[in-house]
Amino acid sequence: MRDFSQDHSCLSINTATVRQSRGTPLPLTKIIEACAERGIGAISPWRDQVAASGLSVISQSIKDHGLKLSGYCRGGMFPAADAQGLAAATADNRAAVDEACELNAPCLVLVVGGLPGALAGHAAHKDIARARDQVVDGIATLLTYAKSCGMPLAIEPLHPMYAADRACVNTMEQALDICDALDPEQSGALGVAVDVYHVWWDPKLQAQIQRAGKNRLLAFHVCDWLTPTTDLLNDRGMMGDGVIDIPQIRSWVEAQGYSGFSEVEIFSTQNWWLRDHAEVLDTCIARHRSHV
Ligand code: ZN
Repeated sequence: MRDFSQDHSCLSINTATVRQSRGTPLPLTKIIEACAERGIGAISPWRDQVAASGLSVISQSIKDHGLKLSGYCRGGMFPAADAQGLAAATADNRAAVDEACELNAPCLVLVVGGLPGALAGHAAHKDIARARDQVVDGIATLLTYAKSCGMPLAIEPLHPMYAADRACVNTMEQALDICDALDPEQSGALGVAVDVYHVWWDPKLQAQIQRAGKNRLLAFHVCDWLTPTTDLLNDRGMMGDGVIDIPQIRSWVEAQGYSGFSEVEIFSTQNWWLRDHAEVLDTCIARHRSHV
């Protein structure tokens, strides 16, 4: 396993982690500057943050600062209640692939979606099997396009608490079953993003990481699970503040040959987003050395 204790060259910052500084939105251009100043090698930006500054502006800024991407957040949200919704999802996902290419991302991360309408509080139906079928169909369609662009797709299984509204793919096993069905040759065009927050509890985790192997391990996300946790979405902990044995999971991922970035992704409305982004980034660097 790589030694992260002395340097942070493998650290990437998911830009949601510093989406706000002292509770105020922080532009992506400022996030890029702050990461580059600290010798952070990579970021994983969100589409809305890129759009707010402009794709060409961000693309140039990333190049100017010598940063890489560890992923692009995000595509997905495939299920829909009608044909129009499905077509809109297809078009939006193609645009996400195009943006990922422009930004030279190593993969587009997919948060696949759940019951249509549930995120807005009004699920159109209760048929999660149908939603899961639409996810497979949606990924299959997008994969053809993404392959033609050379952009790998990384399915991110989300913790089961998000099955209704954000992702009905909830385990590594489920995600890898989709990979097996759609990319049986393990070409590298389709894989998984392993986010410790979502999968740490899974008794099959080690076995499924082994099953994934190097070709399907496309991204590795870290933060911590706090006890008690006060919000299902926005109470992620800093590495070391919770109960996830992050080094153990990283050792399993790296035993398969994963050599990519380790991406810190923290959504935290009541703690880290209230602090100054400089403090947050400096803490990420320190904790990445001590607890990842
Ligand atoms: Zn993640």
